[in-house]
Amino acid sequence: MINDTTYHELRLFNSLTRQLEPFQPVHPGEARVYSCGPTVYNYQHIGNMRAYVFADTLGRTLEYKGYKLTHVVNITDVGHLTSDADEGEDKMEKMAALQGKSAWDIAAFYQADFENDLARLNIQPKQHPKATDYVPAMIEWGKGMADAHCYELDSGLYFDISTVEDYGRLARAVTEEGEGRIEKLEGKRNAGDFAIWRKTPAGETRQMEWDSPWGKGAPGWHLECSVMGEELLGFPFDIHTGGIDHREIHHPNEIAQNQAFAQANHGACCGMDGGGLTNATNSGANIWMHNNFLVERSGKMSKSSGEFLRLQLLVDKGFHPLAYRLMCLQAHYRSELEFSWEGLEAALTRLKRMVMATTRMADVDPNPVAEHPKFASPLSKFDEAMADDLNTPIALTALEDALAVKKVDAGIKRAVIESMDAVLGLNLFGLTREDLRIRPVSAEISEAEIEDALARRKAARADKDFATSDAIRDELAAKGVDVMDGDPLGWEWKLS
Ligand code: AMP
Ligand code: ZN
Repeated sequence: MINDTTYHELRLFNSLTRQLEPFQPVHPGEARVYSCGPTVYNYQHIGNMRAYVFADTLGRTLEYKGYKLTHVVNITDVGHLTSDADEGEDKMEKMAALQGKSAWDIAAFYQADFENDLARLNIQPKQHPKATDYVPAMIEWGKGMADAHCYELDSGLYFDISTVEDYGRLARAVTEEGEGRIEKLEGKRNAGDFAIWRKTPAGETRQMEWDSPWGKGAPGWHLECSVMGEELLGFPFDIHTGGIDHREIHHPNEIAQNQAFAQANHGACCGMDGGGLTNATNSGANIWMHNNFLVERSGKMSKSSGEFLRLQLLVDKGFHPLAYRLMCLQAHYRSELEFSWEGLEAALTRLKRMVMATTRMADVDPNPVAEHPKFASPLSKFDEAMADDLNTPIALTALEDALAVKKVDAGIKRAVIESMDAVLGLNLFGLTREDLRIRPVSAEISEAEIEDALARRKAARADKDFATSDAIRDELAAKGVDVMDGDPLGWEWKLS
């Protein structure tokens, strides 16, 4: 649906330069994206899922703009310690011990749960390489960097951040305060130095360990993303994404490794010159993008707080997962978004309105060839919004503008809405009104029972038997069912 009148150049905010930049693909017609994925030691919380909704919206936008997309979201199943700064316990082995399972089983279980959440959020399939499958490649990378950039301590091989130019530029300087967050380890040359390889302590055995030139052990967490990014997408690729916390430690460390790689390879393979970050391609990717956090004031997002906010909890409370996706899209990805149940309910209501507006086109074939002047403005507004660093809040209003257009051919309208929904991923033509009813798992009454009671009430009212009708309404209320007479969206009931 992009033509001369709707087309706007795609511009994205690059965290490395802190400015909007036009998207210029490394390989004409293609877009290659790497998004840092989950550490599969536990369920993902809905904050984590915001990062994947953002990455998916970016991928869909690139496809909408005509690029052939290759998108990698890695699975961290080894190497991540309880602190991002590479100190503390191994997250996988800690959870394995807690649950009395193997670290491999823990990884498989939580990866499957993560992929289920992705599907429920209508996130398009992507490549999900596992870190454990790339350990030999990580060892090769380590060997290539060891002499010029690393030093060995009893605990492992460490990267000396003073060996690359501009370390920490992405984080905008490693401040004293920032360094203070990184635990000191005896022998480290700089507080920000990080492990490339962690040796298994003498006399111990780890469930996940490999032989290496630096002894038996496991790779440092930051290494996997450099290696998988380079192997699967080639340096430099187009876009690297992650949550805003990664701008401070994980991505600066990945960038340092990528610079070391560029130096070792003299740029011969990939158009890089050795050296600093004035040439952004030395970082491994042209554009680094970061989503801001989803926050919840009472601390329910923290995985250490026992029961935390997972997508499943939203579903258990009766919310369709795509209401959560819409809630994410209502904020710009670079803004903090505060989670509340009220906000989620408002998003659900908005989604219901959109789905209701599409039901009239349910049986119509889309007509993507014909155009109608009434859609020129919504289509242009939509394109301009998405091209402006993925301004989804405005794009949603363009979608609603298009839904409100009347007296036009339904096939043309359907094609317009589908083209917008392909970017926003709300599955508007797949959802039904019934899918969006609030129905908590804890409800004391089944839907069939509710429908039956409402049918009896309707009959009573037709007979002007208002006493029976009121009694049925009270019975339903006692079981948590609000009867919604005269609801503007046409809902007959909801479970509270
Ligand atoms: P992790 O499994 O901890 O590596 O996190 C997976 C992804 O979620 C990373 O891109 C994080 O930056 C991101 N992330 C973590 N917490 C939040 C949050 N509250 N809101 C948005 N993104 C988050
Ligand atoms: Zn990563």
